[in-house]
Amino acid sequence: MQKKSAPPLRRKNFATVSESDLYGTICEVRGAYYIVRTPEGDTYTCKTLRTTLTENPNSTLAVVGDRVRFRPDEERNDVALHNGVITFIEKRRSVLARSRDRRRNRSGELEHVIASNIDQLVIVSSFDKPPFRPKLIDRYIAFAEFEGLVPLLVLNKVDLDTAGEAQTLVQPYCQLGYEVLLLSARCEKGLEALREKLTGKTSVFSGHSGVGKTTLVNKLTGSNLATGELSGKSGKGAHTTSNAIMLPVLSPEGKAVGYIIDTPGIREFGLEGIAREELRHLFVEFRKFAPECAFASCTHTNEPNCAVVAAVERGEIWPSRYESYLTLFAEASA
Ligand code: GDP
Ligand code: ZN
Repeated sequence: MQKKSAPPLRRKNFATVSESDLYGTICEVRGAYYIVRTPEGDTYTCKTLRTTLTENPNSTLAVVGDRVRFRPDEERNDVALHNGVITFIEKRRSVLARSRDRRRNRSGELEHVIASNIDQLVIVSSFDKPPFRPKLIDRYIAFAEFEGLVPLLVLNKVDLDTAGEAQTLVQPYCQLGYEVLLLSARCEKGLEALREKLTGKTSVFSGHSGVGKTTLVNKLTGSNLATGELSGKSGKGAHTTSNAIMLPVLSPEGKAVGYIIDTPGIREFGLEGIAREELRHLFVEFRKFAPECAFASCTHTNEPNCAVVAAVERGEIWPSRYESYLTLFAEASA
């Protein structure tokens, strides 16, 4: 048996950052390899080394969305290899982590991150088939508020709205100040407005299975993802793993104007890691009333002289939102 000689191997596997290293973003993870896209749109198949530097301690080393520096392998025989070594991983602006891991990072333990540097959570619902589910929307909004992501509400399948009821359904969310788009992926209505909202940002699509996420993402990115492969599908098997992929949002001229990160099983990111104490801050409409509650620590559930409950009774807080809060409160850890 021949042993590999240690010294040259060690030198070759040393990933110090150098001035000439290129910048890129991880857009896909394939086993031990990372597909890194440069701002020019070139892709490289990279690996990390034990010596890869990171500004994100206590966390998964490299995930989709990470901004990295990497050193391309030298060209051989005039062939651009498009392989490389990631030398440095920049500090993440935001992360999607498995909910059960959320608290660990705060206590210094390893956090399992699924994707990073996300700006916006697109919450897709449908007018019908499946029916509009405000409770699920409230759950996603609370999640976005907790993670510091901007929520963008999309009501799809408005082609099924023969009686003109769609606007009324989403009106409460508009009043709360959330941005809402009504569209029909099937009739390509409203797609331009959505593309505009995705421009210059990295977004994650969430929503109940069947609302039309795959259809929308395919139209916006020119991809051909099959139904069943996109986020929210509760299918079993390979696609329920935490693989995420970043797809460029294309302008009609085919230029990348923004990015969508598709993460299977986004429901996993639920609210389990959020404490009751934090939950009450995630319902924006409570903020105005909460300072008037008799107790500063009021949870707005069963305390006397609760200004939030009074506002619900006066019709100044939408009852369905308050019910969502109570449901999430009952689920949340004390
Ligand atoms: P996903 O589970 O959220 O990814 O949903 P899909 O994109 O797989 O769509 C589920 C079903 O809804 C498919 O049969 C689509 O053709 C259909 N669908 C998607 N968008 C629309 C729409 O705007 N209007 C109607 N009527 N059906 C749609
Ligand atoms: Zn209260």
